[in-house]
Amino acid sequence: MDVVDPSTGTRIETYEEHTESDVTEALDRSTEAFDSWRTRSIREREQLLAAAGDVLRDNKQEYAETMTREMGKPITQAIGEVEKCAWVCDHYAEYASTYLDSDSHPSPPGSTVKTEYEPLGPVLAVMPWNFPFWQVFRFAAPYLTAGNVGLLKHASNVPGCALAIEDVFREAGYPEGVFQSLLIPSDLVDDVIADNRVRAATLTGSGPAGRSVAATAGEHLKKTVLELGGSDPFVVLDDADVVEAAETGAWARNQNGGQSCIAAKRFIVHTDVYDDFLDAFVDEIDSLTIGDPMDEGTDVGPQARQDLMEELHEQVVESVDAGATVVTGGDPLDREGVFYPPTVLTDVPEGCPADSEETFGPVATVYEVADEDEAVSKANDTNFGLGASIWIENRDRGEQIAGRIDAGCVYVNQLVKSDPRVPFGGVKDSGYGRELSEAGIKEFVNRKTVWVE
Ligand code: NAP
Repeated sequence: MDVVDPSTGTRIETYEEHTESDVTEALDRSTEAFDSWRTRSIREREQLLAAAGDVLRDNKQEYAETMTREMGKPITQAIGEVEKCAWVCDHYAEYASTYLDSDSHPSPPGSTVKTEYEPLGPVLAVMPWNFPFWQVFRFAAPYLTAGNVGLLKHASNVPGCALAIEDVFREAGYPEGVFQSLLIPSDLVDDVIADNRVRAATLTGSGPAGRSVAATAGEHLKKTVLELGGSDPFVVLDDADVVEAAETGAWARNQNGGQSCIAAKRFIVHTDVYDDFLDAFVDEIDSLTIGDPMDEGTDVGPQARQDLMEELHEQVVESVDAGATVVTGGDPLDREGVFYPPTVLTDVPEGCPADSEETFGPVATVYEVADEDEAVSKANDTNFGLGASIWIENRDRGEQIAGRIDAGCVYVNQLVKSDPRVPFGGVKDSGYGRELSEAGIKEFVNRKTVWVE
């Protein structure tokens, strides 16, 4: 596996892929580890997770630099990501036992009926490169603490992150085999899912990868959670604070180089504030500093991979050919590395790529709508349903509109974000199942009924 630094385009490291026999051994270790891990008290598992949070905090600069080198995330954002991983560890270290406490049910006199939450076994997690630490901790913190053991197949461009995460758990004192990274290509994923020792699978990534994992898991009757793409609307209504909306919107679109599933992608703006919003939004976007991701002053680093930037640019070119107008950006930067400028498109025709597909990079589309109904209709006019953001002065009206949006979460006067305390996930082509909070830790458990007469 070759790692290419996207800020220079040069190969910086090569990792040996795991062979089929390495994978078999890892699966054996995983099964063995599960037999004893499941018998530990949840309190012990919480303590180990708290220790993993400490390891993350103690080494945050090193982990952040690994991310930045491999996928180009600006270093300050990478440090923030490691801190957020420590937060999710702290969260489940405090709440896992409460979330998994057994439930009692109404029962006939003299009997006791309860639901106990027990682990399933080895869970395979197929993860993307865009938040290479956060996506993994979002699954590992709850699932390991519930008593499962984890197998990570990380994206092929971030093997250093995959191994660093394995080290976090080792350093925290986790027993061997409880968390393992498999450095394998995606075409070996089906075999791992099909293996009898693996009990469930979760994938965060694109629709095609999600469909493939779900199909194989379905064939083998294994539970899945899918966290897929998004084309989140960012709706600005007539009484919104336009300046704040523009400032937050520019960040919501361009953080992490625009490579976030919950980035605001389609800006839907009421006609009364359209011109003011567009001016302020473009000013904000043009003021972002593009540059070396290791530099603390950088807002937008390179795109993670050359092929992905080319796909993004193709979406822009096809949309412009279909009639869209480029207000700013629109062409790869003429410099070393994989740099695409923050870009704004208006007059975007319905059905062109920038309108109907996910743009996984710093490309915003801005639409003018006549009223609230048209805004809601445009917001829902997508195959995706991950998040949505609504900007409006009247909070009650904001809440009512939130109820009309088809998405896994709606934030009013806030950008869409994930938070360990609240469920996260999508509807429609954005996937199914939930991560984080009580909902997340209960995805991969056996809800066992125990009836004692
Ligand atoms: P991707 O190409 O789907 O890759 C994600 C992971 O799936 C990688 O580990 C990849 O391995 C693997 N993979 C690819 N094709 C596969 C297949 N046919 N079978 C099994 N595994 C397969 O996605 P990406 O480019 O890394 O990430 C961007 C996508 O992830 C975007 O659509 C984004 O919106 C989505 N995402 C969603 C969330 C969420 O929470 N909903 C969060 C972050 C990202 P290789 O690298 O070896 O190909």
